[in-house]
Amino acid sequence: MAAEIRLFTCLTDNFGYLIHDPATKATASIDAPEAAPIIKALEREGWTLTDILITHHHHDHVGGVAELKQKYNCRVVAPHDKAARIANVDLRAGQGDVVKVGGLLARVLETPGHTLDHISYVFDSEKALFAADTLFSIGCGRVFEGDYPMMWDSLLKLRALPDDFRLYCGHEYTAANVKFALTVEPDNAALKARAEEVTRLRAANKPTLPTLLGEEKKANVFLRADEPSVAASLRMKGADATAVFGELRERKNKS
Ligand SMILES: [Zn+2]
Repeated sequence: MAAEIRLFTCLTDNFGYLIHDPATKATASIDAPEAAPIIKALEREGWTLTDILITHHHHDHVGGVAELKQKYNCRVVAPHDKAARIANVDLRAGQGDVVKVGGLLARVLETPGHTLDHISYVFDSEKALFAADTLFSIGCGRVFEGDYPMMWDSLLKLRALPDDFRLYCGHEYTAANVKFALTVEPDNAALKARAEEVTRLRAANKPTLPTLLGEEKKANVFLRADEPSVAASLRMKGADATAVFGELRERKNKS
């Protein structure tokens, strides 16, 4: 039986996600921005939280952990974190580890850059990627703790996943990302199609996620830093992808 995935808003623009295994009744929350909307979503479905899979230490991803652990006595999985900033952790996970949620398997990819500890979770059988603040639709996370080569390598890891995987991100930032991406690639047909779709979804007050990774590869300029046309648009013909990626990120920071 296929897993069921629910998404809902937490805090201002964070996404909360539940993934549920109907066979074993196990349910994981991907990150825990705040407890109340997660509890509400669980109660709406009649599910019990068994696991929390944390992607990185930022407060808007772990703020609800203590309360949820207290209420459900669930297992908390988190990245290796030398500074021990994430509390209440039962299991530390790193590159190549496989975390079980009931009968579901989540493969861990280390995707540092936004933070040094950032990991992403891939449910291969569900064709689902939870990339939190590494990869957004038509954007990527700010590079706070790592550097541009590190972040670009992380994006390449995610780009290597199959086109028919669905991308679930940490924030609803798509509209702002589209606006920026169009300044670099005004003639990208996939981007223009996504822009129209995002306008339609936001007008209907609907989330812009999930999205297909294959579409993202065509439309997301941050996954396209090694395209000669992107370098040319930035007047960086011949520059390597890392430098182009860095320039894109700097421009977005100032936009
Ligand atoms: Zn973050």
